[in-house]
Amino acid sequence: MSSVPEIFGSLVFNDETMRNRLPKETYKALKKTIDNGEPLDLSVANIVANAMKDWACEHGATHYTHWFQPLTGTTSEKHDSFINPTKDGGVIMEFSGKELVKGEPDASSFPSGGLRATCEARGYTAWDPTSYAFIKDDTLCIPTAFCAYTGEALDKKTPLLRSMSAVSTQACRVLKLFGINVPRVSSTVGAEQEYFLIDKEEYKKRRDLIITGRTLFGCPPAKGQEMEEHYFGVIRPIVSEYMKEVDEELWKLGILAKTKHNEVAPAQHELAPIYSTTNSAVDGNLLTMEVMRRVAEKHGLICLLHEKPFAGVNGSGKHNNWSISTPTMNLLDPGTKPMENLRFLVFLAAVIKAVDEYQDLLRVAVASPGNDHRLGANEAPPAIISMFVGDELGEVIEALAGDSEYHDHESQRLDLGVDVLPKFSKDNTDRNRTSPFAFTGNKFEFRAPGSSSNLADVNTVLNTAVAKELRDFADVLESAENFEAEAMELVKKTIKEHKRIIFNGDGYSEEWQKEAERRGLYNLRSTVDALPHMLSAKNIKLMNDFGVLSPAEIRARFEVSLENYSKTLNIEALTMLEMANQQIVPAIINYEEKLARTISVKQQVSKAISCSAETHQLETLAECADTISEAINDLRAARKAAKNDPDPLGSAQQFHDKVIPIMDTLRAAADHAEQVCGEDYWPLPTYTQMLWYVK
Ligand code: ADP
Ligand code: MG
Repeated sequence: MSSVPEIFGSLVFNDETMRNRLPKETYKALKKTIDNGEPLDLSVANIVANAMKDWACEHGATHYTHWFQPLTGTTSEKHDSFINPTKDGGVIMEFSGKELVKGEPDASSFPSGGLRATCEARGYTAWDPTSYAFIKDDTLCIPTAFCAYTGEALDKKTPLLRSMSAVSTQACRVLKLFGINVPRVSSTVGAEQEYFLIDKEEYKKRRDLIITGRTLFGCPPAKGQEMEEHYFGVIRPIVSEYMKEVDEELWKLGILAKTKHNEVAPAQHELAPIYSTTNSAVDGNLLTMEVMRRVAEKHGLICLLHEKPFAGVNGSGKHNNWSISTPTMNLLDPGTKPMENLRFLVFLAAVIKAVDEYQDLLRVAVASPGNDHRLGANEAPPAIISMFVGDELGEVIEALAGDSEYHDHESQRLDLGVDVLPKFSKDNTDRNRTSPFAFTGNKFEFRAPGSSSNLADVNTVLNTAVAKELRDFADVLESAENFEAEAMELVKKTIKEHKRIIFNGDGYSEEWQKEAERRGLYNLRSTVDALPHMLSAKNIKLMNDFGVLSPAEIRARFEVSLENYSKTLNIEALTMLEMANQQIVPAIINYEEKLARTISVKQQVSKAISCSAETHQLETLAECADTISEAINDLRAARKAAKNDPDPLGSAQQFHDKVIPIMDTLRAAADHAEQVCGEDYWPLPTYTQMLWYVK
């Protein structure tokens, strides 16, 4: 490998490349578009496109694609080559500004939630110059937004960009009151990505993993994660080789891959980059998932990004570390001077209020059939959205809410708002791993997103909700006569009214469920419970007021999410039926026959020979087979009824309430049979084989 600084960003048309390759005037014009969102002239776009094409061709690219993020799935692309015929029968490589700026994929094949009838399939992709173009698989990829011809967003990037602009505008207003004039404020994100790696040969033998991304059958391994030896343990050589290649590929793509380690479950790992502006962090995470999948296959492995590939074993999440910053300072950093502290408290209060008022929207943003296996299912983190602030900051907040004095840990009396707050050390604030939304010194870590999710959703909600609170603060404080005193009052009032969202205890406990209910916090256990909250008047107003999503766009997203839920469950149910009928029942019958024959042969030899072991096993298997057979019939009927429900919400509810319990019964019986059946007879690799790389 060449040196890391040499390869870093080598496949990205980044600022340095632009500066080197574009005429000065063009570079300046493009910079204005990137930094301030000014529109780009087509003549400028033509020069940029040509320079991009030359650069891409020098790196072996032959095609270009508009790379975008439709409402389901992760990313999409349609490749076109640069070739253009010449009169003499040859070709030249060409790429115009028009092709760079706008594309027209056939939008009919992407979900739109009724925003676009199939007959009027036209949609277009529009270049997002704030995210750099890059080369992947000999193709120049241009990050784009995807919209219907009527202008409605059909993707996840568009609302994210709108929310970033909303939070920037409102944060700038608040900062101005502190005498700080900045052109923009950016939300920043660092995404910690969890994943499983298993052997490709074993994967190929599991239809459930291939079709649904998770195991629909399989009894727990004899040894799970209880020894707690895997986390930070020595990385398997094959996994280490894999991680090295992933790092290198990501570095080439300008992604700041930083940390890699094992996770709590066997075969589970994590990769974390250094944080960046939200938009590029989200794009970077989507690319990271793609690279992780692709590189795994080269090493004879499969990277599983599903939230719950293995029942009874820890699932995978994607921690969304979030903050807001000016180009030079992190606004969630307590700072060292009294005014910096006041500023910190104002922004902190805005986040607390935002999370409290929009807990349901945050829950919706992480809702997916895969993530239902984590949230609300006795696993990290719970479905109740609450915030953890740690002891030190917790005491400050208590003091503010109670108008009492605050003593810091060195027992100094602090007159809040005038004196200096202590620096909240990471060690003190990061202990609670059960909280979905934890303050970790100078940022918040939202732990509820699922491992396969597109983080655009959660950050769109976070940015917009915080923008709304900052707007309300600015509205009040802009006319304040005594800014400092009134700002402090506002902080106190806000904290008093919203401190119910703060919980520093054990988020997994029974008591918390009851306490949260008493506090009036939402406990939306499943995707089906959560999704209807998208349509509440309060939530529609938030998104609409800030131009992030129109009511029609929200409704469309609601429908796409419901449809996605039902489709996923339908596929899982069908896959279970197929596996039960074609693989599991025949395996049980084979082994039953073996047992029955053995009993019969033994009996022929002598009635005195004991057959109790075989008889007992045969009885158990027969019972399992009966339960399985009954569950197969029930599942068939329930799936059909759910699928045929004409109301999308009704259909999803039926899948949740009726289909899932039967899937659980079917699985339990099959898993019991697995424990009895001879290994040579069982058609599926076991959990032990997959998780512990046992051949
Ligand atoms: P852990 O949560 O495992 O203790 P770290 O403290 O190293 O891990 O940070 C986790 C992630 O948070 C990293 O991706 C890091 O870059 C990111 N991060 C750090 N500061 C910020 C910030 N101001 N805004 C967003 N993300 C941040
Ligand atoms: Mg973390």
